Amino acid sequence: MSITTIPAKTIKTCDRCKAVMDGRNDRQEGALLVKAHALDMHGHACADASRKFDLCDSCLYTVAKTIDAAMASHVPVQDAQS
Ligand SMILES: [Zn+2]
Repeated sequence: MSITTIPAKTIKTCDRCKAVMDGRNDRQEGALLVKAHALDMHGHACADASRKFDLCDSCLYTVAKTIDAAMASHVPVQDAQS
């Protein structure tokens, strides 16, 4: 009897475009982490509702630009009402 061990292989895919990240398209090791608590019906934190998205270099650029634009275009509530 002989034993052959086949090492596990980790395949990471981009959560946006589903491309397999192979070291050429994930050189920045990008990810988007959205931290949040899930709230119960009384408004108390009851669970972790955080989400993490692994992103290839191309999607990292696109998502970062989108977040930058959203943050820059936000009008504070007090200014919007005046
Ligand atoms: Zn991608």
